[in-house]
Amino acid sequence: MTAKVTKLEGRSRRAAKPAVDLDRIARGVRLILEGIGEDPNREGLRDTPQRVAEMYAELTSGMREDPREHVVPLSGNKHDEMVIVKDITIASLCEHHLAPFVGKCHIAYIPKNGNILGVSKLARLAESFARRLQLQERLTTEIANTLFDRLRPLGVMVVIEAEHACMTLRGVKKSGAMTVTSAVLGGFRKDPRTRAEAMALITGHTK
Ligand SMILES: [Zn+2]
Repeated sequence: MTAKVTKLEGRSRRAAKPAVDLDRIARGVRLILEGIGEDPNREGLRDTPQRVAEMYAELTSGMREDPREHVVPLSGNKHDEMVIVKDITIASLCEHHLAPFVGKCHIAYIPKNGNILGVSKLARLAESFARRLQLQERLTTEIANTLFDRLRPLGVMVVIEAEHACMTLRGVKKSGAMTVTSAVLGGFRKDPRTRAEAMALITGHTK
């Protein structure tokens, strides 16, 4: 089942990953400026549409790569204890408002057969899924699932703490409110003690 899904994804990825149409985004930004009653031609705004287009291209760059490519196991290790990488900075875009949400991603896993992953690769994996239109919940599970499928560890836990601009700047305006999401797979799911240990190590540092 998993293999089938992966195959389909592979096909669609090759078929449909158009480059970013910067001019099209810029046209849209110009319309936003007009819509709020601004003059897109005034001095300070003249380059804004192009700048915004380039920013969105960067913030969605993960759409145009395969996150699974970052999971390249370093085999031949003896390490079979829990690995925790904390405070990976993530910046993503909420798909409901196109507003940023930024925070920290913590990843814990228990290696199997000595397969571990370099810290920078973990960070790249998180970034690859963050750099696209997202929901924090989905971002969390996508990182966990990909790590679990590709590294084949005994267990994976991913925790993300993030502040959403669409919550802190508008609507209820809960400044500083953190949304915490987690995804737990394999051994972490089955063993409450291991899960509690990982969670304590993760939250202990961030307080
Ligand atoms: Zn939002």
